[in-house]
Amino acid sequence: MLVVQKYGGTSLGDLERIRNVAKRIISYRERNDSLVVVVSAMAGETDRLLSLAKSITKSPDERELDVLLTTGEQVSSALLAITLKSMYCEAISLQGHQIKIITDSTHTKARIIEVETEKITAELNKGKVVIVSGFQGVDKKGDLTTLGRGGSDTTAVALAAALKADICEIYTDVDGVYTADPNVCPRARRLDAITYDEMLEMASLGAKVLQLRSVELAKRYNVPILVKSSFVDGPGTLVCKEVTKVAMEKVMISGVTYNKNEAKITISRVPDRPGIAAKIFTALADANIVVDIIVQNVSKGSFTDITYTVSRADAKKAHKITEEVAKEIGAESVILDENIAKVSIVGSGMMSHYGVAAKMFSTLAAEGINIEAITTSEIKISCVIEEKYAELAVQALHKAFGLDSEDVEEEKLCS
Ligand code: ADP
Ligand code: ASP
Ligand code: MG
Repeated sequence: MLVVQKYGGTSLGDLERIRNVAKRIISYRERNDSLVVVVSAMAGETDRLLSLAKSITKSPDERELDVLLTTGEQVSSALLAITLKSMYCEAISLQGHQIKIITDSTHTKARIIEVETEKITAELNKGKVVIVSGFQGVDKKGDLTTLGRGGSDTTAVALAAALKADICEIYTDVDGVYTADPNVCPRARRLDAITYDEMLEMASLGAKVLQLRSVELAKRYNVPILVKSSFVDGPGTLVCKEVTKVAMEKVMISGVTYNKNEAKITISRVPDRPGIAAKIFTALADANIVVDIIVQNVSKGSFTDITYTVSRADAKKAHKITEEVAKEIGAESVILDENIAKVSIVGSGMMSHYGVAAKMFSTLAAEGINIEAITTSEIKISCVIEEKYAELAVQALHKAFGLDSEDVEEEKLCS
């Protein structure tokens, strides 16, 4: 059996924790499993390196930033290999460029194009545990790249797919995927299993327990992911293609998420004629800005209002571009609001239930929370609200949809 394991930053936070990870690896080896271990940088290290660069300049050169950030994972991979060897377990650390994990050249958020497996397989055949630095790759020119924050999850799934591993185990600081972030919603419940599609929605709507790209890859290559705690033993959560739901008739949603990383821009009194929306959003696309929610009001006379959200990192740039377009098209004003949060409910059960949206809106209303924008898909509903209400909204929705731990009777089993 070939297993890929990934350990997050908190699990490797100090030498004592690295030693515990090494012990876990050795106990796996005793069961004769071939092991590839992907590591993140030690807790806080990527943030530390990032702020060093940002203390020099607000926008550091991205190629050099990647050279800097990859050092975090280089340190942890070497420390884990040294620890294992000191415990008489044969191990070798490999960096992304040694393996080669080939990516495109989009520095700081590169995408994996190809993973070579020869080197890893050769080391596994020698009986070694292969420790791989997560989050990093190399482009076709030989430059170092990184895969975006949380990218070690993606390294692990990409390796599991390329090596045709039996399972990809993600060890983190929570013991599975919960119905809501357990650090925000104490009543959240661990799921035994969740489908790729539901996990994709959860990850894209703010549940950072798995990086979105890693779930996309897992779905494409059908890699089962088991999310577990590196501190306590337990069954964890299996992320897989299908989940058999027992006694699930009542279950409308499987999770509640929130995202505080977006900002909202409203353009008022936009002339309501063909081509105007195209003009606004083409200008944003030309600046490589990804737009999330778009809402256009019913027009009053021949004018309308348009609201959209973007990631907070792009907010100021988007605001400036929109102000320029607004002048050109004769709109009245452009307002930027960075104090928003997006709360979402996710679940395939909502396809077969009526009243889900109504229940979400009335739950928020009962807490006195105003909804500023709404968006839906087949398996999710998102509302933009004031940022300060994010936690309250998550807790209220979690309770209203019967997800609070004491309300739960259903069992989910993976097929
Ligand atoms: P790692 O460093 O191991 O990659 P992360 O901090 O990236 O860990 O991800 C784990 C965190 O994800 C948890 O501490 C938790 O606060 C957060 N999280 C958000 N939503 C969820 C959820 N639905 N289930 C579990 N954890 C969640
Ligand atoms: N060290 C990187 C980060 O902090 C990658 C990861 O942890 O997955 O984002
Ligand atoms: Mg992570």
